[in-house]
Amino acid sequence: MDERAIAALRGIYGERLKTSLEDRICYSYDATGQEFLPDGVSFPVSADEIRRTVLLANEHRFPVVPRGAGTGFSGGSLPVRGGVVLSTERMDRILSIDTENLVAVVEPGVVTETLKEEVKKKGLFYPPDPASLKFCTIGGNLAECAGGMCAVKYGVTRDYVLGLEAVLGTGEFVRTGVYTVKGVVGYDLTRMLVGSEGTLGIITKATLRLIPHPESAATLLAFFRAGEEAARAVAGIVEARIIPCAMELMDRTAIECVRAIADLSVPEGTGCALLIEVDGPAESVSREADRVEAACSRFGATEVRRAADAEGREKLWALRRSISPAIRQVNPVKINEDIVVPRSRLPEMYAFLSELAARKGLRIVNFGHAGDGNIHVNIMISGRDEDERRRAEGAVEEIFRKTVDLGGTISGEHGVGIAKAPFLEMEVGPLGVSVMKRLKACFDPNNILNPGKIFLSEPAVRP
Ligand SMILES: Cc1cc2nc3c(=O)[nH]c(=O)nc-3n(C[C@H](O)[C@H](O)[C@H](O)COP(=O)(O)OP(=O)(O)OC[C@H]3O[C@@H](n4cnc5c(N)ncnc54)[C@H](O)[C@@H]3O)c2cc1C
Repeated sequence: MDERAIAALRGIYGERLKTSLEDRICYSYDATGQEFLPDGVSFPVSADEIRRTVLLANEHRFPVVPRGAGTGFSGGSLPVRGGVVLSTERMDRILSIDTENLVAVVEPGVVTETLKEEVKKKGLFYPPDPASLKFCTIGGNLAECAGGMCAVKYGVTRDYVLGLEAVLGTGEFVRTGVYTVKGVVGYDLTRMLVGSEGTLGIITKATLRLIPHPESAATLLAFFRAGEEAARAVAGIVEARIIPCAMELMDRTAIECVRAIADLSVPEGTGCALLIEVDGPAESVSREADRVEAACSRFGATEVRRAADAEGREKLWALRRSISPAIRQVNPVKINEDIVVPRSRLPEMYAFLSELAARKGLRIVNFGHAGDGNIHVNIMISGRDEDERRRAEGAVEEIFRKTVDLGGTISGEHGVGIAKAPFLEMEVGPLGVSVMKRLKACFDPNNILNPGKIFLSEPAVRP
């Protein structure tokens, strides 16, 4: 960015524009661990400041990269072409919680857990629950269409968005959607913006749908000898007409990583564990938990532990939450993928992943939201061995191809960003990519917003 552009931005932000190296470094990375230095970092406090920033960017032709908390796993908030990182962290107000219409209106920088806690105080539930909820923001969740543990029963972020306000790449301010349960006027621009990874518009306000908070819950932890058995149990539970609010699967290596850092007793010969939670009115929770336990035993569970009180449930959940940190501690470098296959194809996918790990001589850790067919495939690498890195990259391509062949998708919740841009066409085909690029040009003709994301060969900001 040239001096004139920086000076013009300073006119909008004053001290809230940071250009020192230290400040820029703080906003140069996300959870992928990759780093790209921005030219500046701005902290807007209003939609109008965002609108003026994008107008300036069109005039001076610099990229604008929206950023929530930087917890993304696909590089979405990285300023890969420089420009200004626009952090929404100071736009963090919950503007209203309407208990009559079951709607919350929030600014994009609200931390997900804060919203969940505030609506819970009023007996309400905002279901999306990414494991990063203590840090990530609603804006980032909307832009990535974040999922989480309870997506299997309650759906993902897009299912709770009624309307948005956003600044498009042209600098125009748009209001989309409704404040009502129903609404079908014109094209669904709300859904267009959700999951668009900050490439079409910068979300400045969101109208979100709430539901009553479930009365009670029970959590079960079932151990199996093999991943295929656990995967069959997942399908078996759904076939028994139960939709748990979470079904999380951990394979043998994930359990070993947790055991390396925490005290966890597991039955002899355990190759896989399933964490299952059911929720609802107390009587139905206990009945459903019995049926889940029976289904697990039918598919070969060697032991099923159950907790219905808060403390016991928290202990079981601690195991699931400690997987990511445990893997990092055991093996700091990993390639982290986020595939989804139809639930019925999970056994086939797990068998393929075991065979692939053996054939390529790689350590692959699988865990994730098995209830919705979403597996987090973590390929552990040393980071120093070039041959190993090449084998791992080859494995990623094979995993994606198998996923698409099984009728799945290469990203369930982490988005495309830069990490999956090379594989976009594999899933959506050349026409799909072409239509997406035409839509991008309509929302953001000068390629100001988050350039270099989603599309592999997108040129820099148009001159
Ligand atoms: C330990 C850990 C666990 C995780 N678990 C889950 C999980 O269970 N489920 C899940 O879905 N994800 C998970 N994630 C990934 C990540 O937390 C989500 O993608 C989250 O939605 C990102 O939110 P953020 O505020 O950090 O956004 P950022 O990472 O800052 O940005 C993400 C994308 O959103 C765009 N963006 C941010 N704000 C706006 C805005 N106001 N308008 C337009 N675009 C915007 C950015 O440009 C970028 O493309 C996890 C990450 C970590 C580190």
